[in-house]
Amino acid sequence: MKVVALAGGTGAAKFLRGLCRVTDPADVTVIGNTGDDLEMWGLAVSPDLDTVMYTLAGLVDESKGWGLAGDTFACRDAMGQWGQATFFGLGDKDIATHLVRTERIRAGASLTQVTDELRRALGVKSAILPMSDEAVRTHVRTPDGWLAFQEFFVRDRCAPAIVDISYDGADRARPAPGVLEAIAEAKVVILCPSNPISSVGPILAVPGIRQALAGTAARVVAVSPIVGQAPVSGPAGKMMAAKGFEVSALGVLAVYEGLLDQLVVDSQDAPLVARLETKGVQVLVTASIMTDAEKEKALARAVLEGSS
Ligand code: GDP
Repeated sequence: MKVVALAGGTGAAKFLRGLCRVTDPADVTVIGNTGDDLEMWGLAVSPDLDTVMYTLAGLVDESKGWGLAGDTFACRDAMGQWGQATFFGLGDKDIATHLVRTERIRAGASLTQVTDELRRALGVKSAILPMSDEAVRTHVRTPDGWLAFQEFFVRDRCAPAIVDISYDGADRARPAPGVLEAIAEAKVVILCPSNPISSVGPILAVPGIRQALAGTAARVVAVSPIVGQAPVSGPAGKMMAAKGFEVSALGVLAVYEGLLDQLVVDSQDAPLVARLETKGVQVLVTASIMTDAEKEKALARAVLEGSS
């Protein structure tokens, strides 16, 4: 059964790890967010693609949910001594990934090609496609002006008030090779439990991807990253509110309006089912907080089966 998953970083990666344990990973194609990408010390860094890749390879730093387990930070510390920005914590082994990516892109490879080379080299059986080979960069507008996504997210720890969010370059971007084909051929398309604004939003902003989702024969199902009135982690609530959406599973459905056959909500949100169903979507209620491997697998199984 061909499965496509639209994915951000940490929330998506946990879900995808469960998914790849309950279905053949070779049948899974991940379409990853590159709106968070940045250039750091001259290196091309793709945090969400790498979080998914490291997690599926079994190499992720479990305590942080990103980066490589056991990594050291000697290079970052040395860069600090040179007066360089060190807010984005690239570990020493992680830097090797970015060196390879940067070198391959400089030699003419696309982000799609180098991402495929990297994931194969790490033994990841699922295809990982960037949403686009063209640069799309998420920016956050604060009362003091626009910030690059990682300045807001990592450097400023999501503290500034949000006035607006933009996906710069999205209007000129094209879906990466294989993205539209994968959506067209899928049996199920899953919008992972990811930030709807900063992780799935940039993917949907690439012209053609929303249309492909609306047109596919696949069952399109989203897992709500909002449980009750708050995200499980991160700034999704603050971002949804800034964009005028209610911070709830109802708000998640509104962000994805017109795209979903099914929405998966946590058991805590059972009282919302009747209101959600009036919006024309099937609702699946299940335990959706992934605190261990068994819960990751159980959620993935429920999403695949499409019923509780
Ligand atoms: P990011 O790039 O690290 O922000 O990655 P994602 O967008 O994939 O993940 C962050 C989102 O995942 C947040 O909105 C969280 O609320 C959501 N999330 C994290 N863990 C869980 C979980 O266990 N269950 C659910 N339902 N959502 C989760």
